[in-house]
Amino acid sequence: MGVVRALPPSWIPMFFQRFDTPFALPCTLALGVLSCAVQPGGANEVADAVPDGHTHARTRGPIVFFAAHPDDETIGMAGAILQAVSEGRPVYIELMTHGDSSFVRSELVNGQTDAWHPGSHMYPLSVQSFGEARVREFMDAMQRLGVTGVNVSDFGSSSKLTSAQVTERVDYWLSRNERGLSLRGTAGAQDPAHATSPAPHPDHAAVWNALVASGYEDVLGYCIYEAVTGRCRYDEKVDVSEWCAGKRDALGAYETWDPSKGRYGIALHSTYGLLKNVGARCNEYVVRAIPDRPSTIDNTDPLPPQIEGDDLER
Ligand SMILES: [Zn+2]
Ligand SMILES: [Zn+2]
Repeated sequence: MGVVRALPPSWIPMFFQRFDTPFALPCTLALGVLSCAVQPGGANEVADAVPDGHTHARTRGPIVFFAAHPDDETIGMAGAILQAVSEGRPVYIELMTHGDSSFVRSELVNGQTDAWHPGSHMYPLSVQSFGEARVREFMDAMQRLGVTGVNVSDFGSSSKLTSAQVTERVDYWLSRNERGLSLRGTAGAQDPAHATSPAPHPDHAAVWNALVASGYEDVLGYCIYEAVTGRCRYDEKVDVSEWCAGKRDALGAYETWDPSKGRYGIALHSTYGLLKNVGARCNEYVVRAIPDRPSTIDNTDPLPPQIEGDDLER
């Protein structure tokens, strides 16, 4: 059964950018807080749900994808997102952090060059402006995917993302009490971040643990690193060939180098091999929410062949 909790009285519904109409300046960033047009309700309300009220994969209720960092949603879930869009479901993306603790911030000022973009790294960015640049990539990708709306949180900037923070956003969606709601997000313990270690990315695990802990029935996780680790313990491998062109297009938002427009290809700098591999493979890897599944995995399996770019996306 779904768990529905009342929101605290002080709660202010978060801001959603809806993509019904083109926008020139996607949201505004002030004091590190992203504000977008607030238009809750509308076409995504209960009227879209199937009449039997059951929650299952083919409903037309809203589907919400939780990403720990900008790029997780596209790397791991773009096929699922595009499918849901094509089915006419209201599709929302919940971004938990700006991803501003990435090592790429220090790389962008090291004077080095890369074969895939002109110029050298000569861009000193503050943590805030770096995070804003990552959100810019994310917003571009979301427009390319054609999602209904996004909500950008800024959790975990100076510390790790916590499941309690993710739970705030999960509870927001559960409190809306919409029929046919589906919740998706980054997988946790089933998705080692490196081929050589069983540890998941802690922020990804925070998302997944919050989704599982909600007790909501329609929850799935997606492995992010399988294309470079070969170690995801997925329950289902989904062929997303039908959506691969669109997925590659959205990945392109994370590969755009145009510093004059605040675009630094940050996700591609972060995890070149991963982006290239997921764009080539057209598979997504689903993990089911199974309570009490062991949170550590056996790391004695033989390692898969090393693939270019086994780098930690963060
Ligand atoms: Zn991530
Ligand atoms: Zn570079």
